[in-house]
Amino acid sequence: MRPARALIDLQSLRHNYRIARELAGGRSLAVVKADAYGHGAVRCAQALEAEAADGFAVACLEEALALRGAGIRSPILLLEGFFEADELPVIAAHDLWCVIHAEWQIAALEQASLERPLRIWLKLDSGMHRVGLAPQDYRAAWQRLTALPQVASVVAMTHFARADELDSERTQQQVEAFAATLDDLPGERSLCNSPGLLGWPAAGSDWGRAGLMLYGANPFPSSHPQAGRLRPVMTAESKIISVRELAAGEPIGYGGGFVTERPTRVGVVAFGYADGYPHFAPTGTPVAIDGQRSRLIGRVSMDMLTVDLTDLPQASLGSRVELWGAQVPVTELARHANGSAYSLLCGLKRAPRIYRD
Ligand SMILES: *Cc1c(COP(=O)(O)O)cnc(C)c1O
Repeated sequence: MRPARALIDLQSLRHNYRIARELAGGRSLAVVKADAYGHGAVRCAQALEAEAADGFAVACLEEALALRGAGIRSPILLLEGFFEADELPVIAAHDLWCVIHAEWQIAALEQASLERPLRIWLKLDSGMHRVGLAPQDYRAAWQRLTALPQVASVVAMTHFARADELDSERTQQQVEAFAATLDDLPGERSLCNSPGLLGWPAAGSDWGRAGLMLYGANPFPSSHPQAGRLRPVMTAESKIISVRELAAGEPIGYGGGFVTERPTRVGVVAFGYADGYPHFAPTGTPVAIDGQRSRLIGRVSMDMLTVDLTDLPQASLGSRVELWGAQVPVTELARHANGSAYSLLCGLKRAPRIYRD
């Protein structure tokens, strides 16, 4: 069997969730959209439900139905609500919570006849300018919704654009815009994503919405005391399947862009961009071989990549290689590859996931 795989540590997932809930100072949704950022939504939700998670958040009805179909009974929030009005009866039937971010959704809800009233999360655009109601329209929308028989309650929410930039004033401005718009409106509130929970304790509200941090990745560009408490959940690993000795001056792999600078012992690893490794990660990107750090050399192929074993005489055929995990944090890999921890985790493909609990 091909040795490429992703180990998923569910105890670390629960550990990280407990930190999210602690930082939220109350309750936190566990964001398991995009197949739990590549970790497997059903398995992760089951592991967190055993921890009595306060609820889950997904991107769409299809993702929510997959969780309900697997027996998840906790609340599930649809982060973009519905895309078409005919989803509304299904949302009610499965007792899902629903974001409303646009006026057309309010009109659709007014027209719907539902078997039970919905818990709505009404989104304010406090400065990200992606989705959400504009501040001048928000209070009227809130009044309109709370008056509807189709609505059980309304949670006020907003989303940060730059909470990962700890020196930016934008997050504080968004917090203030949210507070000023809501003013005396009653009900629960939700502001923080992972960088908000970890880096902006003053933004706290009734509900956190923790995504990336659950999976143990640091959302900030450099180390951070709260992020340092997280444990990586995914370890992407494989093995050395071939070793060769090359003289100085020899090219390696497609394009021959890397040429050995010295007599080099090259290890070939069964993991490539079709498994989710960044295709254009440059020579020098860190890898860990039997627990010792070394570097990627040459261009990444679809199914294989090459690493430098010259300074690791113990490394040989069958040595274990960690592409990202505890020894090579996914955030560090992302920095080298000019990508993000989010897209690396979501981009895991082909390599089977092996769960540990
Ligand atoms: C994806 C998402 C989150 C989670 O964000 P992280 O940065 O991964 O914690 C929170 N809220 C909304 C609205 C989202 O779309």
